[in-house]
Amino acid sequence: MAKKLNERSVLQIASEALPFAKTGGLADVLGALPPALARLGWDVTVVTPRYRGVTAGSLVERFPVTVGGFAADAGFFEAPLPDGARAILVDCPDLYDRDALYGVDNVDYTDNARRFAFLVRAALEVAARRAAAPSIVHVHDWQAGVAPVYLRTLYAGHPVLGGTRTVFTIHNLAYQGLFEPDWLPRIDLGWDEFTVDRMEYWSRISFLKGGINDATLLTTVSPRYAEEIQTPQLGFGFDGILRARRADLVGILNGIDTHEWDPAGDRFIPRPYSADDLSGKAAAKAAVLERYGLPSDADALKRPLVGMVSRMVDQKGFDLIAELSEDLLRLEASFVVLGTGDARYQDLWTALAAERPDRIGARIGFDEALAHLIEAGADLFLMPSRFEPCGLNQMYSMRYGTIPVVHAVGGLADTVTPKTGFVFTDYSPPALLGALTRALECFGNRQRWLALQRAGMTQDFSWDRSAKEYVKIYERALKRTRRA
Ligand code: ADP
Repeated sequence: MAKKLNERSVLQIASEALPFAKTGGLADVLGALPPALARLGWDVTVVTPRYRGVTAGSLVERFPVTVGGFAADAGFFEAPLPDGARAILVDCPDLYDRDALYGVDNVDYTDNARRFAFLVRAALEVAARRAAAPSIVHVHDWQAGVAPVYLRTLYAGHPVLGGTRTVFTIHNLAYQGLFEPDWLPRIDLGWDEFTVDRMEYWSRISFLKGGINDATLLTTVSPRYAEEIQTPQLGFGFDGILRARRADLVGILNGIDTHEWDPAGDRFIPRPYSADDLSGKAAAKAAVLERYGLPSDADALKRPLVGMVSRMVDQKGFDLIAELSEDLLRLEASFVVLGTGDARYQDLWTALAAERPDRIGARIGFDEALAHLIEAGADLFLMPSRFEPCGLNQMYSMRYGTIPVVHAVGGLADTVTPKTGFVFTDYSPPALLGALTRALECFGNRQRWLALQRAGMTQDFSWDRSAKEYVKIYERALKRTRRA
């Protein structure tokens, strides 16, 4: 007898999701894609941990979940998401009630394998208790990478979940979920997973590799990145594994949350503005300069303001900036930077701000409201990433009439063109400086600048467009017979 399938229903599993917890773009995607899929008529459930400080949702179920020798009573809190989607927050204080999501001071928690295997088990167990299976299990990044592996192994003959098609989305290949192989028995997997065609990766196991090998279909978050990760330069050692599955790998550009990021209705900016009337942007510029304690007189307002909101890591091009710091001080521009990350980059920006308190503002921390104000108040947004799976900030920038200066890579190359921003191809300090200099020169030409702003502001970066592409992938996965 064919098993009962809940038509057009998707179970998503991710380690972070807005509005509950966020460290990066993954959470933005999980905040926006589920409602967009729901608007297309899909039944969407997102399962994510109930980290410290998350109070949303009401307890709907509680039952024991076991991973290896670790057993805990998990609480399942259901919270509504917009447009009829729902979230289930997995409560397990031993695993999730901690200072941070993944680790502190750049050191991962030593039991992350267990923490995220538990998340996946809990999510699958919730689904297994329903009378009808989700038609698709869609999982994100290494933290959920064992879901397709569990479906192939633990749940192979399961009456509800057996044979469920999976989609695995890679948001960032740099994070591979690598653990010592002795974790295998501790996450209920056999030693037969410890082979090169399964989870083994250079003497360790990789949750990412498990997801790549076992998912029915793979996606990544921009078409360019889908190509790049199949090359040795940007494949992080996974290019061969990905090339082997290239027929099943598709790039779908992320959308942005166009309600949350809308200069015409942004609660974090002093005056709304739009492509038709950009006058409110000046108020945001004054406000951001003041927030940073930088001069905000008429001269300062006339001077181009360069913004950055970013994790301060090599990926985001901070190594290039470090080499250019002397040159930046000489530019006829002001800078406002917000971010956290590697101590050397935090220290660099703090030192630059101390050296030029009239021109450079640095804020080390995570501040959603300030991120909005910078997007609105800056004239230029700097995003010189070495690699960029999709990138959201360049799209926010364009929507706010803030001109991006980007390295032509991944999603940056897919979204920024000479009509909307400044692009450099060579990943080198002179190339970055060249693009920034061109941008600053252009700032003096009001007509050209306005044309760039308007071209960016009127683009469609909505999730509705992306969600339709995900639905096509789900439909394609549903037509697949099971992978052997
Ligand atoms: P990534 O996911 O690689 O960090 P993205 O550009 O895809 O990069 O997404 C980053 C998201 O995180 C954006 O929404 C950005 O505004 C936000 N962000 C990053 N650092 C900070 C910070 N220090 N304060 C506020 N928001 C931040």
